[in-house]
Amino acid sequence: PTDVNKLADEYLRLSYHGLRAKDKSFNAELITQFDEGMPQVSMVAQDIGRVLLNLFNNAFYAVNQKKKTQGGDYKPTVSVTTSAANGWMVILVKDNGIGIPNEIREKIMQPFFTTKPTGEGTGLGLSLSYDIVVKGHGGKIDITSEEGAYTQFEIRLPI
Ligand code: ADP
Ligand code: MG
Repeated sequence: PTDVNKLADEYLRLSYHGLRAKDKSFNAELITQFDEGMPQVSMVAQDIGRVLLNLFNNAFYAVNQKKKTQGGDYKPTVSVTTSAANGWMVILVKDNGIGIPNEIREKIMQPFFTTKPTGEGTGLGLSLSYDIVVKGHGGKIDITSEEGAYTQFEIRLPI
């Protein structure tokens, strides 16, 4: 049984500070909305942690990319929200970064698909996440995105 709020909070900060260690000028607002009544759900915490870490790394990368093309009034924001209802635990990871173009939407879960330069991405994060969440835990992954505006990943795990 795992405290998902604690797991998500730790990895959000780990991801943010990792990026800031490489790029001191990088700043983002972190928003957490944790459901305090979350059930302790049985899971392989280390694996779900890797899923979350990749989602956060992707989100910070996306806001950082957008920052490079925006004026000074752009405010990079990454949020994580947890909730539980109807037998599902839900974790939402949202960023207001570059978004996912429609043309590549079908491809991003495929192994080795990446839009990042060599050394910055392996393209394995989301395919691994699919294996862990869907195959390993009987969960679901849903993606909503608007190019240039935002991306949201919804992770569902059965309680
Ligand atoms: P990697 O991060 O190594 O590129 P992933 O499997 O984690 O591999 O992601 C695959 C691709 O999906 C990324 O290269 C990027 O094009 C797209 N992507 C994933 N998350 C986001 C996001 N939050 N915003 C915009 N694009 C994203
Ligand atoms: Mg990734």
